[in-house]
Amino acid sequence: MYGAVIHAPGDVRYEERPEPEVLEPTDAVIRVTAACVCGSDLWRYRGIAPVTKPTPIGHEYCGVVEAVGDAVTSVKPGDFVVGGFNPCDNTCAACRKGATANCLNAAHYDGCQAERLRVPLADGTLVATPGMPDEDLIPSILTLSDVMCTGWHAAVSAGVGPDTTVAVVGDGAVGLCAVLAAVQLGAPTVIAMSRHEARQKVATAFGATHIVAERDEAGIAAIQALTEGIGADCVLECVGTEEARLQAAGAVRVGGTIGLVGVPHGDLPVERFFWKNIGIKGGPANCRAYLPHLLDLVLSRTINPGLVFDLELPLSEIAEAYAAMDTRRAIKSLVRPNAEVD
Ligand SMILES: [Zn+2]
Repeated sequence: MYGAVIHAPGDVRYEERPEPEVLEPTDAVIRVTAACVCGSDLWRYRGIAPVTKPTPIGHEYCGVVEAVGDAVTSVKPGDFVVGGFNPCDNTCAACRKGATANCLNAAHYDGCQAERLRVPLADGTLVATPGMPDEDLIPSILTLSDVMCTGWHAAVSAGVGPDTTVAVVGDGAVGLCAVLAAVQLGAPTVIAMSRHEARQKVATAFGATHIVAERDEAGIAAIQALTEGIGADCVLECVGTEEARLQAAGAVRVGGTIGLVGVPHGDLPVERFFWKNIGIKGGPANCRAYLPHLLDLVLSRTINPGLVFDLELPLSEIAEAYAAMDTRRAIKSLVRPNAEVD
C-alpha cells in the first residue's frame, strides 16, 4: 500500500509501505477514507522538530474497518469509524476520569496519511457511526480525529460556559474549531483574532461575535475594549509559539483562564501569570472522551467543523498538501488515500 513518509524538513513523499496487519488481538485494520495534515505535522516539516530518519506521518483519519483481532468487540468489518490521534484503552483509571489523552496504556499510530492503517486498542479508540455517513459529512467527521476535539479541549480547559467572554488566539484550523466550540458551549461573546479574510469568514460562520485583526498591543487593546477594559474571561491559545502565549497573557483578564492546546515551544512566563491570578490548563485533547458528543453534533448537522478544509487532494499529492499549509495558502488540507475506491 501507499502512504506519506517524511524524509527531511520540506520533504514528504508518497511511497510504498508495508501492508498493515492485525498484530495484537486488540488491533483493527481500517481502509482510510480521508486523512489530513495537522499544524503539528508542520513542526517537523519546517525543521523545528527533528526528523532523524524517514518516518510515516499523519495522525488524523476516518475510514472503514477491514479486519479486527480476536479480542475486539465494539467494531466489526464494514463499520465506518473515527478515532482520536491518541489511541487509548478507554478503560484504565486515567481514561475512566476522562483523561484519555494520558491513557496508562497509550499506543501510537504508524502514519495515518496512508491507504490502510493499523489501529491499536481498537475497542477503546474507535467510535463507529450508525451506518455509512453521508459523503458530505466525512470532512466534519474527520475533524473529530484531532482538530475539533482539540478546539473543544481548549474551551473546556479554559472553563468556557454561558456567562464567559472568550478570545481565541490563532486562526489555524484548531483556533477556528475553538471558536465553534466556545459558541457551542454557550459563550455570548467569542472574539476571533485573525487578519486573514478567508479565516475570518470561517470564524464568522462558526459563530464568532467579533473579529480582531490587530496583533500585539493593539490586539490586546481591542480585546480590552470589548471586555469592559479587563480582558476576556477565557483565552484559547491555539498556536504554541511564545508570541501567541504572550498575546494570550495580554488578552486574559485578571483571574481568568488560558486554555492551552498549541504544542508549547519556548518558555512559559509563570511569574507573569502568578501576579494576575491567571489559570493555565491544557495539553493534548481527550479525544475519546469528547468523541461521542461531538459525533452526535456532526451527524445531527448541528456543527459543521469540516469547513476548516479548504483544500482536498488525492493522497498521491501529499507534498502539495503540506506545501499549501506551510505557505498558508490553505487552512487545512484533506487527502483521499483511496479516491478510486470510495
Ligand atoms: Zn486508558
